[in-house]
Amino acid sequence: MPQRRATVPREPAESAARDLFGPAEPAGPPAGASAASTVGPRATESHAAGDRVPGDRVAVLLPLPLGGTYDYAVPGDLPLAPGDWVRVPLGQREANGVVWDAVGDPDAVPRRRLRPVLERYDLPPMPALHRRFLDWVAAYTLSSPGAVLRMTLGSGRGLEPPKPLAAVRLPFDLEAAESRAAATGLRLTPARRRVLAEAAGAPARPAGELARAAGVGNAVVKGLVAGGLLEPVELPAGPALELPDWKRPGPRLTADQAAAAEALRAAVREAAGAGEAGVGGVGGAFSVSLLDGVTGAGKTEVYSEAIAAALAAGRQVLVLLPEIALTGQWLDRFAARFGAPPALWHSDLGSKLRQRTWRAVAFGEARVVVGARSALFLPFAELGLIVVDEEHEAAFKQEDGVTYHARDMAVVRAQLGGIPAVLASATPSLESLMNVRGGRYARLALPERHGAAGLPEIELVDLRRQPPPRVEGLGQSWLSEPLRRRLGEAFAAGEQAMLFLNRRGYAPLTLCRSCGHRLHCPNCTAWLVEHRLAGQLLCHHCGYQARLPEHCPSCGSEGPMAACGPGVERLGEEVRALFPEARTLLVSSDSVTGPEAAAELLRSVAAGEVDLLIGTQIVAKGHHFPKLTCVGVVDADLGLAGGDLRAAERTYQLLHQVAGRSGRADHRGRVLLQTYDPDHPVMQALVSGERDRFLESEAEARRAAGMPPYSRLVALILSSPDEDQVDEICAALARRAPRQEGVDVLGPAPAPLRVLRRRHRRRFLLRCRRDIAPQPIVRAWLEGLKLPGQARLQVDVDPYSFL
Ligand code: ADP
Ligand code: ZN
Ligand code: ZN
Repeated sequence: MPQRRATVPREPAESAARDLFGPAEPAGPPAGASAASTVGPRATESHAAGDRVPGDRVAVLLPLPLGGTYDYAVPGDLPLAPGDWVRVPLGQREANGVVWDAVGDPDAVPRRRLRPVLERYDLPPMPALHRRFLDWVAAYTLSSPGAVLRMTLGSGRGLEPPKPLAAVRLPFDLEAAESRAAATGLRLTPARRRVLAEAAGAPARPAGELARAAGVGNAVVKGLVAGGLLEPVELPAGPALELPDWKRPGPRLTADQAAAAEALRAAVREAAGAGEAGVGGVGGAFSVSLLDGVTGAGKTEVYSEAIAAALAAGRQVLVLLPEIALTGQWLDRFAARFGAPPALWHSDLGSKLRQRTWRAVAFGEARVVVGARSALFLPFAELGLIVVDEEHEAAFKQEDGVTYHARDMAVVRAQLGGIPAVLASATPSLESLMNVRGGRYARLALPERHGAAGLPEIELVDLRRQPPPRVEGLGQSWLSEPLRRRLGEAFAAGEQAMLFLNRRGYAPLTLCRSCGHRLHCPNCTAWLVEHRLAGQLLCHHCGYQARLPEHCPSCGSEGPMAACGPGVERLGEEVRALFPEARTLLVSSDSVTGPEAAAELLRSVAAGEVDLLIGTQIVAKGHHFPKLTCVGVVDADLGLAGGDLRAAERTYQLLHQVAGRSGRADHRGRVLLQTYDPDHPVMQALVSGERDRFLESEAEARRAAGMPPYSRLVALILSSPDEDQVDEICAALARRAPRQEGVDVLGPAPAPLRVLRRRHRRRFLLRCRRDIAPQPIVRAWLEGLKLPGQARLQVDVDPYSFL
């Protein structure tokens, strides 16, 4: 039970929240996939865990956006140690936090003015390792430790045990129930009888559930409880977790797979043998392996062997996946391999399940957790392996709040814990490949698809020479002759096909036919996208919605406005005109809104109820469509525009992944890429399959431009509803911008998304040599910066988005 203390009302005595930008000392040499040097031990522990310090003071870290630690008094009868989860008074409220330091800062506030800790939760203390990890992430990302703690604590519901579930059961058999009813004069209506029949011999369940099962209203069940026939009982809040069984055999591995699996098992065993990393130093056996294998090579099977080894060694496992809504197949495979599902963690979990899972991780009951990036911050008790699948995915970068890259922070976590990390991808990031080249990561190659499945054959359609011919009754069309022919062949052969276009909605731009006025978002520098199925115009940046206007808002002219460019909905229209018989299905985040919708999609495709998928990148990720043989990429050039540092790399990764959807089983897949730039290195690499040569030239271009991974970047994004204000702040920052060898500052410049949600945005980009840590420089630059009123600053270390 939590130990409760009465609140002693005193004046607030929090020591001032420490530095806005985290601990004052530099982060030490940054590690991580992009950084990849060693994590310097940092002496954040003044007391080893287990030291109780009665009657003294503690520094408690609270999950507040700008917060550091606050000092509190330790009540005499409530011994506390670093890592303890506690409840403390905060102003007029109470807050949950973690004892960060046993001593606190004796110079800050006299002890007699400190308010006492109220309660210690009955939970395993946050491991010292996890505290160091949070400190490290805060320092590296230039965030406040409080904001980072928030990622571990969430709502804080996990601190309390879940309430038992109120349920009812029938403690008699039917006959005994009848006679009891007769004895007490309770009339057994047909509805009541149905409930009794349903409850007889069945385990206890919630009253509402029983009522539903019997097809009656809740009142009927209540009446039976009041009549003494049904008995109220309490059930544990959730089913006990099933444990994955690592002893179950996996599939027979091929020679390449077996070699990779053995290397991973060895890494896991070595780390487990080395024991927990000691506090204050890096222990164990840290390693990073890049599992580099084409789509369908069996990467999942191989890292499953590492998972089995970690479980056998008594350690927990974390698997990070980029897109958790789409992982139904992954979960099914895991359950088939290990006989039980993993614990699941992502932002859409219901709050009860969140609470249960959080506690199961903290108590070490959950042995395998699969989740989105936020799962990295769960308070693992004995983590022994981290797998990052599809490590190149941009979805691992969190763009708001604490901006961090989950792959990089996973490597840091592994390093601090002295455990192995496995990064898996068919198209590894340049950063990871550079780390392989530098000898920091081991590369395990799986060059071939498993079984008979060959790699798809990729061809280009030069749209300059073969523009899409007009389609009767439609304004414009987007499918070239060769692609139409290919689709026709696939349908005739009874095979499935897919069209890929990374654009939701009907048309990305709508304009007036008379004056050319373009419909744009009132809150953002962005066009409104027509979503014809929903009958709406939508801003993809802020979510603004409007109806398509009947008059031009600028010149007032009537008549339909012109839709410019295609989205998946518009492609659907063209396909219906060309192939009226084909059963098509649109797949985008508008239609696939969660795991259930994704599962239904996969089911209908697998059942052959669909001939053609028309989808955005959501179809490109991780699904296996065994009967899919033909893929058409409608606009292969789409991702290359926009001048993003990684545009070519990302386009290659995405299109490679799209191509990999086809031809999984015994049919060879065929892929057509429509492009206006067939000579582009990305297109050439996709056709020739010479990935490594492409990456070589891409790396060379980055090196020549002095861009990551050959340098480090930090972006500052300043914003305010008041344009003059943001310009003033930028001017002041520009005047004191760092000037030192190896460091340059670009900007301030208006962000490409110049206005977002009515805020005017300006960007600085600080670039420095790889051997210079940018954090201390940025911290010094921003030191003492006071942001007026509504102005905001977002610091993005290792930015991936340049909008
Ligand atoms: P990747 O993760 O590299 O895309 P998967 O692990 O998903 O590849 O493997 C692709 C398919 O091949 C899956 O259906 C998987 O079960 C199957 N597979 C891979 N290796 C083997 C093996 N050694 N024995 C049987 N099936 C395998
Ligand atoms: Zn007009
Ligand atoms: Zn908008």
